[in-house]
Amino acid sequence: MKILVKAPAKINLSLDVLGKREDGYHDVKMIMTTIDLADRIELELLEQNRIIVTSHNRYVPDDQRNLAYQAAALLKDIYGVKLGAQITITKNIPVAAGLAGGSSDAAAVLRGLNKLWGLNCSIDELAQIGAKIGSDVSFCVYGGTAIATGRGEQIEHIGSPPPCWVILAKPSQGVSTATVYQNLNLNGIEHPNVDGMIDAITNQDYKQICGSLGNVLESVTLKFHPEVAMIKEQMKRFGADAVLMSGSGPTVFGLVKHDSRMHRVYNGLKGFCEQVYAVRMLGEREKLE
Ligand code: ATP
Repeated sequence: MKILVKAPAKINLSLDVLGKREDGYHDVKMIMTTIDLADRIELELLEQNRIIVTSHNRYVPDDQRNLAYQAAALLKDIYGVKLGAQITITKNIPVAAGLAGGSSDAAAVLRGLNKLWGLNCSIDELAQIGAKIGSDVSFCVYGGTAIATGRGEQIEHIGSPPPCWVILAKPSQGVSTATVYQNLNLNGIEHPNVDGMIDAITNQDYKQICGSLGNVLESVTLKFHPEVAMIKEQMKRFGADAVLMSGSGPTVFGLVKHDSRMHRVYNGLKGFCEQVYAVRMLGEREKLE
C-alpha cells in the first residue's frame, strides 16, 4: 500500500525571540503561516521492520539525520510498530532556507504513517510527538496560521491573512538555524510587534499586515549574507508591498496584492536570483491535503 502526503513550507510573518532558556533553547513568539510550496512525500508500507528514506536532492541526508526518518523511527518506537516504511521525498522546498522544509517533511510523515500504520493518533498527539523532533514540527503537523510560543512548539491557531501573493527569493547559499541563534545578541535589539501582526490578521487588514512584518533574526543573518539586503531592495524596487526574511533565512519574501504586480516582482527578481517562487498562503480549509 502507498500513500502520498503533501509537506508545505511555512513563512514567518513575525518572529521575535524573548530570551535564552536554561535548556539552551530560546523562547520565541512567532506568527507562522503555511504556503503552497510543498515537498511531496510518498509512503509505502513495508512488511519488514525497517525505515528507508530516499531523496534525489543532494543536500538532503538519506539516513537517520533526515527529519522524516526521525519522525518514522519515533512513531515506531512509541507505538511499538512492527511494520516498516519506504519514504520517498521529492524536494520542492529549498533546503536550509528558513522555510521549515525538513520539519514539514517530518510532520507529513507523522500524519501519513498514522494512517498507513493504522495508529489512530489525534492531531494533537502527533504535534506533541513532532515537538520531540524539532521546534517547528508541531506547527507543520497542523498547518494553517498560528501563534507559536515556547521554543516554537506551543501552537495557537488564528484566522488566515487575507488573500495575497507571496514572492519568495532564495539566495544561493543556505543558512544554519543553529548558527544564527548562536550569533543573536538580544541586548539593544529591535523587537517586532507580534501583537500588531495578530491584530492585523484578526482585522483582515492587508496594509496593517504589511506594516507589521518583522523578524528579530534578520539583522543577524544579514551579517553573513549581505545578499539578503540586496534581494529585499530589489523586491521593493519591483513593487512588493512589504518584504521580510523568513525564519533564520536566507529566503526573503515579498507580499503583493495584485496579479499584474506579482508578475513584475517575480520576473524582475528572476534576473538576480536563481530560485524565485510566486505562491499563496494556504487558507484554513485547504491547509493540508
Ligand atoms: P527551519 O526554517 O525549520 O529552521 P530550514 O528551512 O532553515 O529549517 P531545512 O530545509 O529543514 O532548513 O534543512 C536544514 C538541514 O536539515 C539541512 O541542511 C539538512 O542537512 C537537514 N535535513 C534533515 N532532514 C531534511 C529534510 N527532510 N529536508 C531537508 N533537509 C533536511
